[in-house]
Amino acid sequence: SPPQGYYTRRAGIGESGDFVTSPEISQVFGELIGIWCISEWIAMGKPKAFQLVELGPGRGTLTDDILRVFNQLASLLSKCDVSIHLVEVSPKLSEVQALMLTGGKVQSNPEDESAYMKGVSKTGIPIFWYRDIQDVAPGYSFYLAHEFFDALPIHKFQRTEKGWREVLVDIDPEVPDQLRFVLSPSSTPATENFIQPEETRDHVEVCPEAGVIIQRLACRIEKDGGAALVADYGHDGTKTDTFRGFQNHKLHDVLRAPGTADLTADVDFSYLRKMAQGRTATLGPVKQREFLKNMGIDLRLQVLLQNSRDPATHEQLLHSYDMLMNPKKMGDCFNFFALLPHHRLAHPDTKQKPESKSPLPPVAGFGELLLK
Ligand code: SAH
Repeated sequence: SPPQGYYTRRAGIGESGDFVTSPEISQVFGELIGIWCISEWIAMGKPKAFQLVELGPGRGTLTDDILRVFNQLASLLSKCDVSIHLVEVSPKLSEVQALMLTGGKVQSNPEDESAYMKGVSKTGIPIFWYRDIQDVAPGYSFYLAHEFFDALPIHKFQRTEKGWREVLVDIDPEVPDQLRFVLSPSSTPATENFIQPEETRDHVEVCPEAGVIIQRLACRIEKDGGAALVADYGHDGTKTDTFRGFQNHKLHDVLRAPGTADLTADVDFSYLRKMAQGRTATLGPVKQREFLKNMGIDLRLQVLLQNSRDPATHEQLLHSYDMLMNPKKMGDCFNFFALLPHHRLAHPDTKQKPESKSPLPPVAGFGELLLK
């Protein structure tokens, strides 16, 4: 909601806000995602240009950390034309991103572009802002979505003796200004369309907007190449009632004071896989601690510890590592999921030329290929 929505009014990401995310916890997180992009770019034969497209960039920290990696590997990327494309609906957060990434030097509503804002990063890379992924020009791209899909609206359904019913939001007739959940008296169009006939759960949450966006990403990757990396908390089609709110890092009644709390639902990766419709291969979900370990987080931590003698820095590095990796913290509940062109994963044996020599390198982070 432009006037009343949480992301347009409040958007409290970070320690002083409502929730904190991995890129905000440690620079290492974004650095490893930057390495992932470069690794895939190399594995796909170093195309002459790529777009880095981030959906829901928050405070811009992830892209900032990735740009630092790109800058450190400038000699490797010297012949590659790199540009940054941020899909962001929040005017407030786009300002925060602009400050973080460009120092605030941006042009609003540039005439020649589909973007609503453009600027240049501190390292000289062009950056564009859009409200919708469809406004981003086609081309070989790496798409990143970190804690993006969980923020999109869901439909909720409940199995009853009379069949599936949709969970709707109503005004409580007894208490003024109080919202309540009710069950639809009969089946609704959403019930007819979003519940799979083979569904075994009694309560189901579906995020059709996530499905539409994954379809678009899969079409783009199939046509123009690239990859998408999705990281979020979620499940593989097993969980039921996960819709919840957060305010000041505490659980918050989702129906109270709408627009003042972060509303979130676990991402259903089985649904995302289904919505890729076989246009791309899908990898994962793998747990965050496995992905980051495969990406070399332990080595990076050792280097950072060796580079500093300050005990406070050491403590901070170890604390943030624990937050990201500990199975009881973010290590187990966050997952990584990727879309890649089929040819990226095709085994040499199944190719037309069986004599072709070197096997394709495994996709970084996913260890042994979890090909589905
Ligand atoms: N990726 C960041 C922020 C996550 S919060 C991080 O991990 O720290 C979700 C982000 O998605 C915010 O930037 C929010 O403004 C943005 N967002 C929410 N709904 C959106 C939509 N429909 N289209 C584009 N961006 C959206």
